[in-house]
Amino acid sequence: MALIITDECINCDVCEPVCPNTAIFQGEIIYEIKSESCTECVGHFNEPQCVAICPVNCIIKNPDVVETDEELMQKYERLVGDKNSIIV
Ligand code: SF4
Ligand code: SF4
Repeated sequence: MALIITDECINCDVCEPVCPNTAIFQGEIIYEIKSESCTECVGHFNEPQCVAICPVNCIIKNPDVVETDEELMQKYERLVGDKNSIIV
Protein backbone atom coordinates (compact mmCIF):
# COMPACT_ATOMS: atom_id res chain seq x y z
CA MET A 1 0.00 0.00 0.00
CA ALA A 2 0.99 3.57 -0.40
CA LEU A 3 0.86 5.64 2.76
CA ILE A 4 -1.38 8.58 3.58
CA ILE A 5 -1.01 11.54 5.96
CA THR A 6 -3.92 12.12 8.33
CA ASP A 7 -5.26 15.51 9.40
CA GLU A 8 -3.25 15.24 12.63
CA CYS A 9 -0.26 16.49 10.61
CA ILE A 10 1.31 19.58 12.22
CA ASN A 11 3.14 20.69 9.03
CA CYS A 12 6.53 20.27 10.67
CA ASP A 13 8.17 19.62 7.30
CA VAL A 14 10.61 16.90 8.41
CA CYS A 15 9.14 14.09 6.30
CA GLU A 16 9.33 15.73 2.89
CA PRO A 17 13.15 15.73 2.56
CA VAL A 18 13.57 12.13 3.74
CA CYS A 19 11.35 10.60 1.06
CA PRO A 20 13.56 8.83 -1.50
CA ASN A 21 10.79 9.01 -4.11
CA THR A 22 9.90 12.71 -3.65
CA ALA A 23 6.35 11.52 -3.02
CA ILE A 24 5.63 14.00 -0.20
CA PHE A 25 4.54 17.55 -0.87
CA GLN A 26 2.92 20.48 0.91
CA GLY A 27 -0.79 20.31 0.12
CA GLU A 28 -3.34 23.07 0.62
CA ILE A 29 -3.70 22.41 4.35
CA ILE A 30 -1.29 19.66 5.36
CA TYR A 31 1.45 17.61 3.78
CA GLU A 32 0.27 14.95 1.34
CA ILE A 33 1.67 11.83 -0.34
CA LYS A 34 1.45 11.10 -4.07
CA SER A 35 0.36 7.48 -3.90
CA GLU A 36 1.67 6.80 -7.40
CA SER A 37 5.17 7.65 -6.16
CA CYS A 38 5.12 6.02 -2.70
CA THR A 39 6.66 2.54 -2.49
CA GLU A 40 6.53 2.43 1.32
CA CYS A 41 10.28 2.92 0.80
CA VAL A 42 10.55 -0.58 -0.72
CA GLY A 43 13.71 -0.67 -2.85
CA HIS A 44 15.40 2.06 -0.81
CA PHE A 45 15.06 1.29 2.91
CA ASN A 46 13.80 -1.42 5.25
CA GLU A 47 11.14 0.82 6.76
CA PRO A 48 9.13 3.86 5.65
CA GLN A 49 11.39 6.81 6.39
CA CYS A 50 8.53 9.28 6.78
CA VAL A 51 6.83 7.12 9.41
CA ALA A 52 10.10 6.75 11.32
CA ILE A 53 10.64 10.50 11.50
CA CYS A 54 7.10 11.88 11.95
CA PRO A 55 6.81 13.26 15.50
CA VAL A 56 3.05 12.81 15.77
CA ASN A 57 2.63 9.40 14.08
CA CYS A 58 0.12 10.67 11.55
CA ILE A 59 1.32 8.66 8.53
CA ILE A 60 -0.62 5.46 8.02
CA LYS A 61 -1.33 2.88 5.33
CA ASN A 62 -3.77 4.11 2.73
CA PRO A 63 -6.63 1.60 2.72
CA ASP A 64 -7.65 2.78 -0.76
CA VAL A 65 -4.29 1.93 -2.34
CA VAL A 66 -3.64 -1.74 -1.59
CA GLU A 67 -0.39 -3.13 -3.03
CA THR A 68 1.65 -6.26 -2.34
CA ASP A 69 5.40 -6.12 -1.66
CA GLU A 70 5.93 -7.42 -5.20
CA GLU A 71 3.83 -4.61 -6.66
CA LEU A 72 5.69 -2.05 -4.53
CA MET A 73 9.00 -3.38 -5.89
CA GLN A 74 7.64 -3.13 -9.45
CA LYS A 75 6.61 0.45 -8.71
CA TYR A 76 10.11 1.16 -7.38
CA GLU A 77 11.71 -0.26 -10.54
CA ARG A 78 9.38 1.80 -12.71
CA LEU A 79 10.21 4.98 -10.77
CA VAL A 80 13.96 4.33 -10.97
CA GLY A 81 13.63 3.57 -14.67
CA ASP A 82 11.73 6.85 -15.22
CA LYS A 83 14.44 8.76 -13.37
CA ASN A 84 17.22 7.15 -15.41
CA SER A 85 15.44 7.86 -18.66
CA ILE A 86 15.25 11.56 -17.71
CA ILE A 87 19.01 11.61 -16.97
CA VAL A 88 19.79 9.92 -20.31
FE1 SF4 B 1 8.16 8.45 0.71
FE2 SF4 B 1 8.82 6.15 1.84
FE3 SF4 B 1 7.07 7.77 3.04
FE4 SF4 B 1 6.35 6.51 0.81
S1 SF4 B 1 6.89 5.55 2.78
S2 SF4 B 1 6.01 8.67 1.27
S3 SF4 B 1 8.28 6.44 -0.33
S4 SF4 B 1 9.24 8.19 2.68
FE1 SF4 C 1 3.13 16.21 8.96
FE2 SF4 C 1 4.35 14.16 10.16
FE3 SF4 C 1 5.27 15.13 7.84
FE4 SF4 C 1 5.52 16.56 10.07
S1 SF4 C 1 6.49 14.58 9.66
S2 SF4 C 1 4.85 17.33 8.06
S3 SF4 C 1 3.63 16.05 11.14
S4 SF4 C 1 3.30 14.12 8.18
